[in-house]
Amino acid sequence: MKYYSTNRKSELVSFRDAAIEGLAPDGGLYFPDTIPTFDKHFFGELKTKSLEEIAYRILMPYVGECMKEDELFDLVEQAFDFPIPLKEVQKDQFVLELFHGNTLAFKDVGARFMSRCLGRFVKDQDRKMTVLVATSGDTGGAVADGFYGIEGVDVVILFPSGKVSAVQEKQLTAMGGNIHALEIEGDFDDCQRLVKQAFSDTELRKKIFLTSANSINVARWIPQQLFFFMLWKQWPNDIEPPVVSVPSGNFGNICAGLLAKKSGLPIKKFIAACNQNDVVPRFLENGKYETKSTIHTISNAMDVGSPSNFVRIMELYDKDLEALKNDLAAYRYTDVQTERIMLDTYAECHYLLDPHGAVGLLALQEFQEHHSKAPGIFAATAHPIKFFDTVQRVVDFKLELPVSISKLMQKDSLSLRMPADYSVFKDYCFQGP
Ligand SMILES: *Cc1c(COP(=O)(O)O)cnc(C)c1O
Repeated sequence: MKYYSTNRKSELVSFRDAAIEGLAPDGGLYFPDTIPTFDKHFFGELKTKSLEEIAYRILMPYVGECMKEDELFDLVEQAFDFPIPLKEVQKDQFVLELFHGNTLAFKDVGARFMSRCLGRFVKDQDRKMTVLVATSGDTGGAVADGFYGIEGVDVVILFPSGKVSAVQEKQLTAMGGNIHALEIEGDFDDCQRLVKQAFSDTELRKKIFLTSANSINVARWIPQQLFFFMLWKQWPNDIEPPVVSVPSGNFGNICAGLLAKKSGLPIKKFIAACNQNDVVPRFLENGKYETKSTIHTISNAMDVGSPSNFVRIMELYDKDLEALKNDLAAYRYTDVQTERIMLDTYAECHYLLDPHGAVGLLALQEFQEHHSKAPGIFAATAHPIKFFDTVQRVVDFKLELPVSISKLMQKDSLSLRMPADYSVFKDYCFQGP
């Protein structure tokens, strides 16, 4: 399989080159030139397959000739060593928990797969690779954890000062080693802009072997399909295909779900669950795609005013808005609504939501109200403890920190504070982290 740029002004490349380059030279996002389809038989078999076998089967066509079969199988086994359980919260409402990886958010799946791919690919290179990544909170931790100790790779993480949770900040800044954290005086979009500018800076790229670990990288984006296949594996046979609500910010995860649907996965509809950063819900309402500056909310990993992966969704649907609306609905919620449902769901179902999962459940409920209770699933994208301050403020009992987190919180932080100014950032890159 080859990958083309969504701007169509770059060469076709292999999975390996797309993963190393991150963004295409013309500034577009890489996109697979064919989408594999899986037949009924495959989906029947899924129920009896292990997570690793499923991951291997769905990723093989995308990685293609870039890895030997047994190499890919080993890599998948190392990368995906945690469960992705589906649980019933109440009648017709299920939760798919995506947060059982090391850093307690769904980004572990993409980050662990990508770091191992790049660690594998960099072995054939004669120079060190620098991975640049902007984070609104969870990406950074997952990328830091995924790449920690991987030889030949330095990681530079840009996070918005004061806009990530205490646990998230520790996950970025307490690693040390080959992981370097930059605290940017700005918001996530500023961080993302600095990274994008570095990629389009030919002078910098001549000197430094750069790649990106944001969800724009195919090696992070594509493995996220695994969630939706795991969902199908656990979905009770005797009822209709589910609608699936996905808390969305940069739209990488839900776009992976839509890709899986294109491959034949029986999902009735996807629902993009958004906070007040609502470019996509507004687009589906009025056909106008207007990016806005980021609004800070309690579901901060979704605070994205200009979602990068949306171009991939348009690519999947040939820019046909009506076709897209058949497969995708989108809703937006305020922080007040989010806190309310966290409280109610705990009181009524004894299920503790983090603010992101809470937005997911809100959107599922709204969809179900309009569509005679279609059975559905929402994704819980982070463990509630990751957003300790918010969750503790909302619920009326004392939250306990898991041991792994209290240990982490005692570690020292190391980060460099920097204005959101490209020339300062460029100097830093030139000197080398
Ligand atoms: C990153 C993240 C999201 C948003 O995912 P996208 O792929 O960027 O849409 C939602 N919830 C949590 C907890 C996240 O970390």
